[in-house]
This record gives sequence, structure tokens and C-alpha cells, in this order.
Amino acid sequence: MAVQLDAQLLEILACPCPEHAPLKAGTAADPRADYLTCTSCGRSFPVRDGIPVLLLDEAVEPTAG
Ligand SMILES: [Zn+2]
Repeated sequence: MAVQLDAQLLEILACPCPEHAPLKAGTAADPRADYLTCTSCGRSFPVRDGIPVLLLDEAVEPTAG
């Protein structure tokens, strides 16, 4: 499964990190296909039932290397 989000919605979503950077949706080939990943800090946020959970508490930290 890949993230299926409205492109306009994705456009207005931003990471809660201090940079408020845009998020990119995972692709089917992505190991984090069901996540939105910040283009700045690299945190990945889960999408549950089509609803992005943009909480730092829920974020998956980027793996080193
Ligand atoms: Zn971020």
C-alpha cells in the first residue's frame, strides 16, 4: 500500500518540526509506503485510515546511514 492523499492536501501539510518543511508521500516500493516523510528532518509520519498523523510523538525518527 502506498499513501493515497489528495495532492492539494499534501501541498498544505507541513512537518511539525521547526522547519515546517513539506512532506512527501511514500511510494509502493518504499519500505515506509504508508508514511509521509519530511523533506527536511527526515521524520516519517504514519497515515492511519487515510488521515496523516502529524505528531512528533508518533513520528518515526530517520535511521542513521
Ligand atoms: Zn521535519
